[in-house]
Amino acid sequence: MNKISNTCYSSHFDVTIIGAGLAGLQCARDLSAKGISVLLVDRKSDLTKGVHTTGIFVRKTFEDFEFLAGTLGRPIRNVELYSPKLRSMRLESDMDEFRIGRMGPLYESLLSECIASGVEFLPETRFVSIETGVSSSHVSVMAHHGARSPHVTSGSTVILEKNGSQFSVNTKVIVGADGANSAVARSLGLDQNREMIVGYEEVYHRKTTHSESVLHCFLDAELAPGYIAWVADDGVEIHIGVGGYSSGYKPREALETFKKKIASKFDPMELSFAESRGGRIPVGGILRRISNEVGLLIGDAAGAVSPLTAGGLDPCMRLSAYAADVITESIKTADPSVLSAYSGKAFRSRFISRLWMRRAISIARSQTLLELGCRFLRGKLGAKFAKHIFFGRGSFPDVHYLDGRRTTSSAWSKRGSGEVA
Ligand SMILES: Cc1cc2nc3c(=O)[nH]c(=O)nc-3n(C[C@H](O)[C@H](O)[C@H](O)COP(=O)(O)OP(=O)(O)OC[C@H]3O[C@@H](n4cnc5c(N)ncnc54)[C@H](O)[C@@H]3O)c2cc1C
Repeated sequence: MNKISNTCYSSHFDVTIIGAGLAGLQCARDLSAKGISVLLVDRKSDLTKGVHTTGIFVRKTFEDFEFLAGTLGRPIRNVELYSPKLRSMRLESDMDEFRIGRMGPLYESLLSECIASGVEFLPETRFVSIETGVSSSHVSVMAHHGARSPHVTSGSTVILEKNGSQFSVNTKVIVGADGANSAVARSLGLDQNREMIVGYEEVYHRKTTHSESVLHCFLDAELAPGYIAWVADDGVEIHIGVGGYSSGYKPREALETFKKKIASKFDPMELSFAESRGGRIPVGGILRRISNEVGLLIGDAAGAVSPLTAGGLDPCMRLSAYAADVITESIKTADPSVLSAYSGKAFRSRFISRLWMRRAISIARSQTLLELGCRFLRGKLGAKFAKHIFFGRGSFPDVHYLDGRRTTSSAWSKRGSGEVA
């Protein structure tokens, strides 16, 4: 476990990030690599506990981003798609399409990188509020580079709470990486997620490693209304879960029924229970107003989740990297208005077809309709469409901020495969 500081060594930071999930960790690491002083805050005492994602990374992510060894499971190439009556079809790929992240080690490795590059991390610390325009102008010290920031800007005061006591820090920019129900978004008066599904799963370890790895997806309007139930099996770890629209949905009960439904396919005697995970997933598409002159939102707080697949890991990594570019520019130029370049409107256009598909899925609450839909998918045209959804690289765009412009590229450097040995 990483050694973590319990006190705040400074009261002035260029950037304060609330939330040390994947979005916050990635943004903190990128910012500190650019010489920005960062305070990273999380209410958790241990980032490896209370994980609320299955952690399936798509090919696009592990092709484009670096993962340290031991943070990704074995590759999964094939998908098995089931109708409500358990009629199945197999989608095969000749490429490694998915990898289940080992989220505890992944969060820890990112946190280690952050701390090594000078990020100050405050665990067990809750964001309370932000007061704008009350802090005096300050010159921040770029702690780990020993250089003084050349620009003097006014900032905000962030109120935090640790062990029941409140204290404040001054910051030039605040970043809300605090998940789907973002308190930072509320405090900054930015857009908030409205449309959510709730997911719940159990994680098991296989008692003996299985040679085949498959992502099983089940369409079922009763057990997973508006979404899917899944068995993500990389031969070592197996995640059995359900997701659906939250109003009146009881995911724990749905999971029990789902396990009975698939009992003949997955022998519980072969598995040993590790943990359960759950949480809300915003599926209304990226929010429009995700920044103002005080700060910005990343990850689930910004609604950066594919409305169709509810995959949020790839979008959160890409949006966090872009946010780090924009914040760096705003600090370098001492011009907080640069932050307004960071808008969700530009991204939303990329998701129009997915948003429409989400609408269609959200109203397809009949088993007969889903059975018919699956029959279509088993046809030639349907299979092509299904392969495009599961194996396509069309997710969140790669964006950078260069010379005051938003640019798109796919050039990310890659360090290692991250595969678990
Ligand atoms: C059950 C489930 C399964 C999923 N499976 C997948 C998947 O397989 N693949 C995929 O691509 N996506 C998946 N998603 C979506 C994906 O997990 C999220 O989009 C992604 O994890 C979001 O990361 P984040 O850093 O934005 O938010 P989070 O991971 O939610 O991190 C937010 C952090 O902020 C902290 N925090 C919150 N409020 C405060 C506060 N007031 N003060 C201080 N700290 C605070 C929290 O403790 C937390 O550590 C799944 C989601 C769920 C719920």
